[in-house]
Amino acid sequence: MKPTGLLFFPAFDWAISPTHPEREERLLYTRDQIFEEGIMDLPQIREYQPRLASASDIARIHFCVPSIERLATEAHLVSAGGALVIGDAFMKGEIKNGFAIIRPPGHHAMTVAHGNRGFCNINNEAIMIEYLRRKYGLHRIAIVDTDVHHGDGTQEIFYHDPDVLFISFHQDGRTLYPGSGFVEELGWPPAWGTTINIPLAPYTTDEGILYAVDSLILPLLEEFQPELVINSAGQDNHYSDPLANMNFSAGGYAELNRRIAPHIAVLEGGYSVETALPYINLALIMAMAGIDSSNLREPDYERRAFRESPDNMERLKRIATLQLENFRRREEMQADLKKKHGDFFSTYRRIYYDTDNISENQEIRLRLCDRCCSYRVIDSAAAHAMGESYRVLCFSISLYSCPDCQQEAREAYRHSLERFLGHYDFIYLQDRAADEYLCFDCSGFEERGIGGRMPGEGED
Ligand SMILES: [Zn+2]
Ligand SMILES: [Zn+2]
Repeated sequence: MKPTGLLFFPAFDWAISPTHPEREERLLYTRDQIFEEGIMDLPQIREYQPRLASASDIARIHFCVPSIERLATEAHLVSAGGALVIGDAFMKGEIKNGFAIIRPPGHHAMTVAHGNRGFCNINNEAIMIEYLRRKYGLHRIAIVDTDVHHGDGTQEIFYHDPDVLFISFHQDGRTLYPGSGFVEELGWPPAWGTTINIPLAPYTTDEGILYAVDSLILPLLEEFQPELVINSAGQDNHYSDPLANMNFSAGGYAELNRRIAPHIAVLEGGYSVETALPYINLALIMAMAGIDSSNLREPDYERRAFRESPDNMERLKRIATLQLENFRRREEMQADLKKKHGDFFSTYRRIYYDTDNISENQEIRLRLCDRCCSYRVIDSAAAHAMGESYRVLCFSISLYSCPDCQQEAREAYRHSLERFLGHYDFIYLQDRAADEYLCFDCSGFEERGIGGRMPGEGED
């Protein structure tokens, strides 16, 4: 039997601020608990050490404005690199599954990154997914985001991509940051129905969440048949978490993990730092490694006797029925919507960066193609609170784009350098198909490459 991979990177030198919930000692107690229980010495566990994610790994997902260096500290690169190490270990068959217990977290970071949103600068899971798809030729990936906050960054990054199924359950956006993740958010035309949100009423219990797993998440995974299942493992649905209002338990998290059985789990939130977080992380490790964790129930859980209300169960039933229907008619809807929009789908978005107080406006144009998931053009203008502002134009070509779409996007990038330099601070080309990432600095009239090709590519 293969072991479960475990990688621990607590980033003891990175915090948003000394009193912020996302601070250095967030994983201190988890570390103590892992050592106390001797987890790393168990034969079912294999420990891994993180490495730095490369500039190409970041640029494959993000347009970092003004630069990767300004957006990502070394702690961010190691956190993302930790996910890559676990991803490689799984793909090479060294482990049956793996858990990257890392911080800083990532699931609120979007394609264009101007600063920190919801404690996130760069998106660890998205960086890992695109890295694994590129390196190992994977196509179909499912992400199950079990953080109490909607994984709006991960959703946005794959909102046009029908090969990535993004499922998120979270406390209803009307009652919690980031205020999104409603059932109507289903994906852009070529990927309609491959984003599935499950907004949960505050105080939902183990019973309600596990019902959503059984009646919706498991059937979705069964029908989508992903090559890889990733869990964005946020532990802040716990009843003791100070940032949210749910009634999920550590035992519930262990059961959730057993049922979903992700190949790779990547830590996201969880701010009950001293009490619940170490328990939940330990419960998840034990569930992944197949170790009995039934005696791990927290001492005050029975006393609290959480019960799910019949109203909430009814509501969950309606959501499950609706979202399964949406998912099952996705191909028909995608075809209809593509026909309706013609060559391009366009939309606008406003994005607010709560941590860094940045307001961003985006215009997005998505090329629609019958043969591939083509390319996106994002025109983004961001105003920082202290007066700094940036406008950037970003061309993003999909990994499995057809040669015609790839060429068209590259020509559009070149064309914009001839015509629109005066409008922008930076113009970017993200050619995932060629694994080439360029940034044109419009004030310095200089184009530079970001990163190099993936090491070892073409060798194995
Ligand atoms: Zn969270
Ligand atoms: Zn195409």
